[in-house]
Amino acid sequence: MSDRPYYIAGNWKMHKTRSQAAELAGALVTQLKDGKHKYLVAPSFTLLETVAPILKGTNIRLGAQNCAAEEQGAHTGEVSVLQLKDLEVQTVILGHSERRHIYHEDDALINKKLRLALQHGFEVILCVGELLEEREAGKAEQVCETQTVKGLEGVAAGDLGRIVIAYEPVWAIGTGKTATPEDADAIHAFVRKVLAKLYGQAAADKILIQYGGSVKPENAAQLMAKENIDGALVGGAALKADTFVPIAKFA
Ligand code: PEP
Repeated sequence: MSDRPYYIAGNWKMHKTRSQAAELAGALVTQLKDGKHKYLVAPSFTLLETVAPILKGTNIRLGAQNCAAEEQGAHTGEVSVLQLKDLEVQTVILGHSERRHIYHEDDALINKKLRLALQHGFEVILCVGELLEEREAGKAEQVCETQTVKGLEGVAAGDLGRIVIAYEPVWAIGTGKTATPEDADAIHAFVRKVLAKLYGQAAADKILIQYGGSVKPENAAQLMAKENIDGALVGGAALKADTFVPIAKFA
């Protein structure tokens, strides 16, 4: 077992109204107050102001699902790190597969956002992961290496304490298909090797690597038992306390 803490994060995606978000955040605060791990929820931008005061002073961090690559200016429809900071957001999720594949964000753009977010003091969860056809073509490692290396370009070793990697095989997101714990662990170990090449083994050993892709109460413990899996980024099952809390308190 590593001495890295577990980090369980919920990505609410484009779900919930303000009252629904307040209800879920309140339930999580109550039910996770004795939780032993690190926690985060990432609601939509429009819900951040509602959820922030509910999470303040608790063991659940407030995350955003994206940010703009520029600090401010003529960028219609974008949300800047300055605005997120103003809402007391602590963490930004970047490079989620839906941003990469639906909204065509490439590694250079994700890297620009990541460096800006770090510069403004945020923790960043950098998502990496291969498409089904890339896995079937034997390219899973190559894709994860490229996304990790390019995503972290220009990041100083001193900022690594605010970097978390989430390995999310795209074919497992929202599909009900989970990578086996063995397959996920193999990619996590590989990503850690990539991090060691970039920053040295000691630094790489400290970086948390979450798994994401149809994590549920029924499979969380088996995934978390693996040496290189340090937590989860949860989508669908994060939308209800009944399913998120058992994952967050996996035994
Ligand atoms: C995600 O969106 O990051 C995710 C892993 O979704 P799901 O848990 O629904 O597969």
